[in-house]
Parts: sequence; C-alpha cells; structure tokens
Amino acid sequence: MEQTLVLLKPSCLERGLVGQVITRIQQRGIIISGIKMMQLDEKILREHYAHLVDKPFFPSLAASMMASPVIAMVLTGVEIVEVFRKMTGVTNGRKAEPGTLRGDFCMSGQANIIHASDSVENAKIEIARFFRPEEVFDYIPVTMPYIYGDGEA
Ligand code: UDP
Ligand code: MG
Repeated sequence: MEQTLVLLKPSCLERGLVGQVITRIQQRGIIISGIKMMQLDEKILREHYAHLVDKPFFPSLAASMMASPVIAMVLTGVEIVEVFRKMTGVTNGRKAEPGTLRGDFCMSGQANIIHASDSVENAKIEIARFFRPEEVFDYIPVTMPYIYGDGEA
C-alpha cells in the first residue's frame, strides 16, 4: 500500500485541533503507521519547503512552523497520497471546500493546520526526511477486510 507524510502544524496544535484531525483520519479507514512530536528547525524547513525558500514569505512561514512542536505522521492506504490531499483541501483555508480539513478548521493561507505530501515520489522523500525506518510500523489492522473490499488493498 501507498504511504504519505503528514504534519499537524503549530496552528493545529495551538488551536487544540489535533484530536479532531486524527479522528477524521481514523474514521476514514486510514492506517496511522508512524506518529511523533517534533520541534522543527530552519535546516529541515529549508529542505521541506525547498520550493519556497526564495519567496518573500519564507521567513514568516518558517517562523510559523517553528512556533511550537508539530506532530508528524506516516499514513498508509490505497492511493493515500491523492485521497489525503483531497481530504486536506487547497492551500488557502478560505478557499478550501467545506468538508476538507482546511475548509472546516482554518481561515488562513499560511496557518492552514496541516501538511500533506503532494505526490508519491515526494511522499517517499518526505517520510525519509522526518522518520527513521524503525519509527514506521508495518502492521495491518484486523478491520482491514471491512475497510477495503476483496482484492482492493
Ligand atoms: N504558504 C504561504 N503563502 C503562500 C503559499 C504557501 O504561507 O502564498 C505556506 C502554507 O503554509 C503552505 C506552505 O507554505 O501550506 C507550503 O506551500 P505549498 O504551495 O506547498 O502548499 P500545500 O502543499 O501545503 O497546499
Ligand atoms: Mg506542498
């Protein structure tokens, strides 16, 4: 099965939304394969947001990502990268569809509560950036036959 890297940003922790976001992940039938709290620093953020380091808003983005610890997760599921990007909603919370995490829980283009990998290739790179191999657990919930139909997973 496919995996994706998710970060619950300081805007998620500080606003007390962690439980609600994790509830939505689990109620969808998504497997949490790794989870930990981390304090991010400038070095990891320059790698993680390499596509944005030259933007004028990067210093403010980096500060917002270091304002408190984050919760990093590896999520597992069939087509999970695409499924979870759809659950996340578009970058600007004000434009995100109701029903998405950003569309239901935030009003900001920067403090948008969550990061989700945008491609299978980037997910692999990001998981390796945030997790050691032994921190990602290879288990299958007993409910699996009820999450997916025969032959789907
Ligand atoms: N961001 C921002 N201003 C912008 C664009 C992005 O502050 O104009 C922040 C925002 O927190 C976003 C992150 O930079 O989640 C990464 O940007 P990206 O374009 O990769 O969006 P995402 O994949 O998170 O939707
Ligand atoms: Mg992105």
